[in-house]
Amino acid sequence: MNDTTELDQAYQKLKDIEFALDASSIVAITDNKGIITYANEKFCEISKYSSEELIGRNQNIVNSGHHPKSFFKEMWKTIETGNVWHGEIKNKTKDGSYYWVDTTIVPFLNEAGKPYQYIAIRYNITTRKKYEEVIEMMAYTDPLTKLPNRNQFTKWVRSQPKKTDEIVTALFLDLDRFKAINDNFGHDVGDIVLKTVAKRLKNCLRETDFVSRQGGDEFIILLKNNDNEEAIMTIASAILEQLCIPYKVNDKQVFTTASIGISRDSIPSENDSYDVFLKKLIKNADTAMFHAKRQGGNQYCFNNDHQNIVLERNYQLDSEIKEALIRNEFKVVYQPIVNLKNNKIVGVEALLRWNNRKLGAVGPNEFIPILEKNGLIVPVGKWILATVCSQMKFWQEKKIFMQRICVNVSPIQFKDENFIRDLKEILNETMLDASYLEIEITEGTILDIKTSSQTINELKDLGVKVSIDDFGTGYSSLSYLKQLPIDTLKIDKSFIDDLDRDGEIIANTIISMGKNLNFRVIAEGIESEEQLDYLKRQKCHEGQGYYFSKPIENNKITELFRQ
Ligand code: C2E
Ligand code: CA
Ligand code: CA
Repeated sequence: MNDTTELDQAYQKLKDIEFALDASSIVAITDNKGIITYANEKFCEISKYSSEELIGRNQNIVNSGHHPKSFFKEMWKTIETGNVWHGEIKNKTKDGSYYWVDTTIVPFLNEAGKPYQYIAIRYNITTRKKYEEVIEMMAYTDPLTKLPNRNQFTKWVRSQPKKTDEIVTALFLDLDRFKAINDNFGHDVGDIVLKTVAKRLKNCLRETDFVSRQGGDEFIILLKNNDNEEAIMTIASAILEQLCIPYKVNDKQVFTTASIGISRDSIPSENDSYDVFLKKLIKNADTAMFHAKRQGGNQYCFNNDHQNIVLERNYQLDSEIKEALIRNEFKVVYQPIVNLKNNKIVGVEALLRWNNRKLGAVGPNEFIPILEKNGLIVPVGKWILATVCSQMKFWQEKKIFMQRICVNVSPIQFKDENFIRDLKEILNETMLDASYLEIEITEGTILDIKTSSQTINELKDLGVKVSIDDFGTGYSSLSYLKQLPIDTLKIDKSFIDDLDRDGEIIANTIISMGKNLNFRVIAEGIESEEQLDYLKRQKCHEGQGYYFSKPIENNKITELFRQ
């Protein structure tokens, strides 16, 4: 530092840009090539070089390699044109550790207006930067599995070089029945399983693949662009295989499997939004995952147009059905049940109908599962019970007598804690004698015999009858049913259909055993005289089906009786 006027000039210039030097300033001067000509004590201290080691060396001696080339290019462009540059730089010390400095570089210009040297004033911001890094890490990492989270997923995707027409593959992974693990073993165990899943996933993937946890038990994987379908299937199978290995938690063994939806598409032309493209890709993978689940889980499924149509329809049904009760779109129809000895109507089965303003008539096989899924089956089921009970009361007042009115009750409604209370209320309000009401439940509903027998007993205490619907399609045996106070068995239509195809044996067995165990036996879905004759010969008690009547509206039933 032999030219003191230059330094004076420097200080003057610094004042001009209102920059105050203080004791913590790290100061260096370089020539216009970046060779260090002066380094103050603070600079030596932070960089761990002596001033002898620094002077005469290019300033990139402290370069950490953290910033891209473009970063310094931009900096040089600024100062070479005589402008002040300001920014944050990560530098490296002599012993290889890092520090961050807030940096201002001021060029000194010769008479021609060209810089002949630069003074750099730096402040140590390492502590702040470290905090920022932690905060950043927290914002982009899932704390449980340490996998990238949703935020980092978006960031990573944006940072990837994209070429139009290049194929991107997304895998949407969701664990099967994970909720049951949390419910049965507690969240701590669930957490450990998730951590293990993350580890196993990483082991199945390559460096270039990207896996993130989206939340809950959902993971998204993006695969290397040039994979073909076969390579993807290999990866998906490997993942499924890994994830179904039992999880050892404490001294317990926990089992789970996964469902994977796969969607592939090529990156659209530059004009289209990449974000929109990716959103759709993931939505499609999610849809395919849903299908993999529906097919029983522990499998992967590629997305296709059919799935998208089904999903779109489900979505529409779900949103329309939420208003169906308020809009009065539901209606109950009744199908006569006939005594096969004397052909007299002994009762009716109530069946729900939905006529939607937009979608038209939708069948119960399609909309009941939706009501069960969104929980509306409980209020809708209550409405059905109230409608049916008051209808039955109405008929009785009109001197139309039937032994029973049968109502289908969904397992969700049956297991609802207020089911019995609500039913009592309805019976009270409609003043219907409970013995005229029969509740139809399926074998699936009573699989858990402990809780179901309690509800069935409560129904019996009220005087309500209980029948097992679609009998023969589930897993229950007749002797199992005998443990429960059940009145009626309804033989599923599929067995009646088979009567025409020499399938009498099963129907036969059910009828004779059912009768021996003192159940009333009803055959469902009788369509032909032959079927009817056969059932009569077998002395099946009652029957129901298009042969007698389709389900019809309440006033048609009234008419039928008048005739
Ligand atoms: P399900 O309880 O087994 O009802 C019998 C189904 O078979 C009815 O279909 C009925 O219309 C139909 N069926 C009756 N006889 C014949 C026949 O001879 N041939 C043919 N091909 N079909 C016949 P639906 O009304 O479409 O109901 C389908 C299912 O939806 C019902 O099966 C029941 O599981 C459910 N469901 C209907 N209404 C309700 C309800 O109010 N609540 C609940 N939870 N489920 C209901
Ligand atoms: Ca039924
Ligand atoms: Ca049935």
